[in-house]
Amino acid sequence: MIRTLTIFALLLLIMESCEKNLPTEREDKKIFALAVHGGAGNIKKLNLTETEEEQFKTVIDSALQAGYLILEKGGSAKDAVVAAITILEDSPLFNAGRGAVFNHDGINELDASIMEGKNLEAGAVASLRHIKNPIQLALVVLNDSKYIFLSSDGAEKYAQSNGIELIDPKYFFTDHRWNQLQEARKNNEMKLDHSEPSNSSSLLNKLSGEDKFGTVGCVALDQDGNVVAGTSTGGLTNKDFGRIGDSPIIGAGTYANNKTCAVSCTGRGEDFIRLSVAHEISAQMMHGKKNLKSAVEDVIQNQLKSIDGRGGCIAIDKSGNIIMSFTTTGMYRGWMRSNGSKEISIY
Ligand code: ASP
Repeated sequence: MIRTLTIFALLLLIMESCEKNLPTEREDKKIFALAVHGGAGNIKKLNLTETEEEQFKTVIDSALQAGYLILEKGGSAKDAVVAAITILEDSPLFNAGRGAVFNHDGINELDASIMEGKNLEAGAVASLRHIKNPIQLALVVLNDSKYIFLSSDGAEKYAQSNGIELIDPKYFFTDHRWNQLQEARKNNEMKLDHSEPSNSSSLLNKLSGEDKFGTVGCVALDQDGNVVAGTSTGGLTNKDFGRIGDSPIIGAGTYANNKTCAVSCTGRGEDFIRLSVAHEISAQMMHGKKNLKSAVEDVIQNQLKSIDGRGGCIAIDKSGNIIMSFTTTGMYRGWMRSNGSKEISIY
């Protein structure tokens, strides 16, 4: 009898230790990853010194780390995207939040959006003048509003009713963006962010002017398998008539669907709106059964190029694959994965 009981107890122990060796559900879900961009454009190595490259890379790195910390603890892709974009918005190097470009009337008007792949919930805000971090307001819209897209004074009233303070627009003022506006006004042009270096050799002057896009964005996959995309911008220098680009438009500058991918774009907004770039990538995966790489490559390298479209995108799928593609000479960008691997590049 004692012998039978001992054998039984041993069998139980063996079974228990076998179970421990099986991957648990939580371990299965451990994959997470994120990618960020700080705009695409005519960015050439010969125009940036090593120190200047480092300045960009440092901010991109901080944004990646902020998102990574949240994902690592099992936090949501939504929170990771907002944390990463908040850091990029707070840097004067990028055309979003502080450092946003001026419109024709010398005012900063900011746009942002965020979309969650789990339930296709989204929040978007446009033409904000007094909101420090537009991506945070977009998140509130996503979480709490019966609407998806709020603009201008109404969006700011909504922000106040949700405890978000309005700030003095002076916060957004930076000399280099102001000079960029004066140049654009002189030439009667609507300019994209960043450009070939102008007469001044300062880094911020190198960010000003035509054919560079300083919009910021982030895509992330969390441990629960949810993908999220977010984008934030000041739009185009010298824009007028209430012009709004692709960044706050769900399907154009931002899109996410757990069945396919999450995408954030940067570039000449009009091109991205015409092609519904972010949604088109998702649709090619859903209906054309393409993988992330071939969907992104077709939309950016074939379709966008075919209309002379300028810009690019970052995209992630539920397996943590990350693709970044652009039709310009560079795009400030970086990615980080749950295994600790990381890459930050410009050209
Ligand atoms: N896509 C933005 C817009 O057209 C600009 C940018 O990417 O910098 O408003």
